[in-house]
Amino acid sequence: MTSATATAPGRVNLIGEHTDYNGGLCLPVAVPLSTTVTVGGREDDHVNIISDAAGTWTGTHADVASGQVPGWARYVAGVLHELTRAGHRLPGLDLSITSSLPLGGGLSSSAALECAVALAVTQLVATDDQDGADGSDWLDEARRRQIAELCRRAETQYVGAPTGGMDQLASMLAREEHALLIDFAEPANPRTRPVPLPLGEAGLELLVTDTGVRHALADGDGGYAQRRDECTRAAADPDSTDPVLRARSRHVHSENDRVRAAVAAIEARDWIRLGALLTASHHSLRDDFEVSCAELDAAVDAALAAGALGARLTGGGFGGCTVALTHEDRVDAVRDGIDAAYARAGYPPPVHHRVRPAAGARID
Ligand code: ADP
Ligand code: MG
Repeated sequence: MTSATATAPGRVNLIGEHTDYNGGLCLPVAVPLSTTVTVGGREDDHVNIISDAAGTWTGTHADVASGQVPGWARYVAGVLHELTRAGHRLPGLDLSITSSLPLGGGLSSSAALECAVALAVTQLVATDDQDGADGSDWLDEARRRQIAELCRRAETQYVGAPTGGMDQLASMLAREEHALLIDFAEPANPRTRPVPLPLGEAGLELLVTDTGVRHALADGDGGYAQRRDECTRAAADPDSTDPVLRARSRHVHSENDRVRAAVAAIEARDWIRLGALLTASHHSLRDDFEVSCAELDAAVDAALAAGALGARLTGGGFGGCTVALTHEDRVDAVRDGIDAAYARAGYPPPVHHRVRPAAGARID
């Protein structure tokens, strides 16, 4: 095979925020927005990357190995580096990337990019190495987990963004009409369970609203790394009387309880309860974990006022997106309500995505 193409989705986390790196639970769903990577092999050792969203980067495998890769291309180089470390012998590569995901918008464009690169490149070299293999069977669940873990390492170690692993597992293991319950009690080997989430049958949708406020996790710009550090200190000193550490730890514990309750509500088809849990999660993230901002609060409050069953910030916070659970015949009203609140506050208009749980990464 001289070229391979793979597509990996972004995700929205339904509930369970800032729990992944605390050995806790989260419940993401894949969104119907994704990144597609086509890769072709080259005779030389050059690596050329073209992204419709970000531009081009040209270098060599030697640049990748020595870390001499700037900016967005590091997400791709990190995956190539980890594939090499895992024993793959990579030829020179031409990679072409297209994406319908917002970059840095909290829907995990970074994991979608990593997973699509890893899958496309693995497919390219697997079919080269395995004479006659049709390339369709090797992608079993165990392999999907390996790829997710490889991509997590690329992002934490090569890019240097301290993320917990939820995004890559969601992109690789998600199923249509399911959420993915992830338990990070053993961080090196997270347990996962698909939870049927038949929103269509229930006449429900998720409305994801991108506030347009941007963060960059890899910048180490403070908030996220500081919260991780506070959680480490709170875990090391459970009897601390520091009110900030106590509030951080209260969020993590109550959020894990809410994830368990959310799974029970989904299994009981109790959508009102599920909505209430989403809203409670937002209040905990706002008040105890302090990762909300005025734009996120405005979207959540307006969604609830317009009849959403529940709403919360989703992703790391400090901007990015909210998710609202809404009856399908209220989605337009919820969207209009958020838009009106933004107009009143003088914020730029937000961007909305209607979501039902989508499938995980695939080879095209
Ligand atoms: P999120 O994952 O929520 O979108 P991150 O800050 O984790 O936010 O990752 C966003 C970064 O990932 C971008 O700034 C860019 O460096 C990189 N990235 C993601 N998708 C692409 C893409 N299609 N092309 C180039 N770079 C991308
Ligand atoms: Mg990301």
